[in-house]
Parts: sequence; structure tokens; C-alpha cells
Amino acid sequence: MTRRRLVAGNWKMHGLAADLGEIAAIAAAADPAVDVALCLPATLIERAARAVPGFAIGGQDVHSAAKGAHTGCVSASMLRDAGAALVIVGHSERREAQHESDAEIRAKAEAALAAGLRVILCIGESLAVRDAGDAVATVSAQLDVSLPGAPADPATLAVAYEPIWAIGTGKVPTLDDIAAMHGALRARLVAAFGAAGEQIRILYGGSVKASNAAEIFAVADVDGALVGGGSLTAADFAPIVAAAARG
Ligand code: PEP
Repeated sequence: MTRRRLVAGNWKMHGLAADLGEIAAIAAAADPAVDVALCLPATLIERAARAVPGFAIGGQDVHSAAKGAHTGCVSASMLRDAGAALVIVGHSERREAQHESDAEIRAKAEAALAAGLRVILCIGESLAVRDAGDAVATVSAQLDVSLPGAPADPATLAVAYEPIWAIGTGKVPTLDDIAAMHGALRARLVAAFGAAGEQIRILYGGSVKASNAAEIFAVADVDGALVGGGSLTAADFAPIVAAAARG
């Protein structure tokens, strides 16, 4: 099964109007052989979408409700309205700081898909879970409960395996550990969605950079990456995109 790779940047709480030029440089480095996207702070989405038409701009979170008394939140239709094409849900920084539950994340994913956004659903284990030897079982169970219902188009849903201990730390699991996790997640997706589960992309995230991207992309069932720090400049991000496009 050939899946088109997806390389998505997560700018987290970085980015001002002064950075629109960097966003344009990143968009210019996109390669037609892969899908490339940048998930930006909500304040920048509309300006970035206008600045780089045709390039996929995304949000980093979405509320599950269509509208209502939810101070500080944005809905899926608001993201669409601002020009977003996709959204991240369930990032570990939100799971931890905002105490988001798997059920809430599933509801967010379903609301986003229903509104026509593509979704990157993040899951991953803590260092304590990894050290206890429970990573595959824990993350598989996390996927089972946060997975939305079958999307009409499997290409609109991506799962990002992001070990919490690898995010922003420079640490990366062994390639064998990545392979074991992605293989297990693929089996869960097929169990949940049948043949369509083969078409859902599984991204790896956690300290991906130019120097390790190619070897990570070569691992079976790694269909791209979610990249934090390495996505903030075109100089860092373009080589990661190029590695995805190469092989
Ligand atoms: C992330 O925040 O999703 C991430 C993968 O960050 P980094 O690439 O900086 O580890």
C-alpha cells in the first residue's frame, strides 16, 4: 500500500506578523511529491492562508461544539472560515496542560472532520510508560478510545505517534521501537476501519530534524512526520520535506 507522505509543522505558541515571510519561504519549499502543512497559532491562520494560497495552513486545537459559551475557544467552522485546511487534536502539551481526555479529543476530531477539516490525531506515551515496557499497549489503547468514526475519505485523518519524552528533547526512540509502535497502530486502524485503515497515514513526531528524517521515513508504516522545533524556519524544515520526498 502506497500512502502519500505528509510532513506537518507545529509552530505551537510561536509566530507574529513578522514571521509571514518565513511561512512563505516554507510554502515555497514544499515538494509536490508530498503533502506539506503548517499548523499555526489561531491569530496567524487567516493572514497566512491569504499570504500562501494553495498551501495547507492548519490550527493546533479545535473545540468540539459548533458554537456557544466557550470563552477563548475556536470551532471547526471558525477554522475553516479563517482558511485552515487541517487541525491537530490531542497534542500531548494540551492533554497535559488543559487536561484533555481521550473522549474529548475524539469529539474534537469528529467535529473537525464533519466540518471538512483534515485531522492529525496525536497519541504517545510518557517516559515512565516506555521504561515500564508498556508503550505499545498504552498507546494502542489510547488510539482505540480517541479514534473518530470512520472518515468518508481515509486521507483526511492522520495519526501522529509522538512519544512525550521525545518532544523537544532531542531524544528519539530506536528505529525498531518506532517500527513496533507504527506496526501495532496500523493493526488497530485496520481492526477499526478494515481496508480503509491501510490508507490512514501514521506520522512520527518527536525531535525530527534534517539529520534523522531520512532514516525515520524509511521505517515501515511511517508515513510522514509532525515536526515542532524543526518547522520554525525554512532552513530547518525544507530538508525534512526533501527527505520525505526522496524516498
Ligand atoms: C511536536 O510538538 O509535535 C513535536 C514533535 O515537537 P519537536 O519536533 O520539537 O520535538
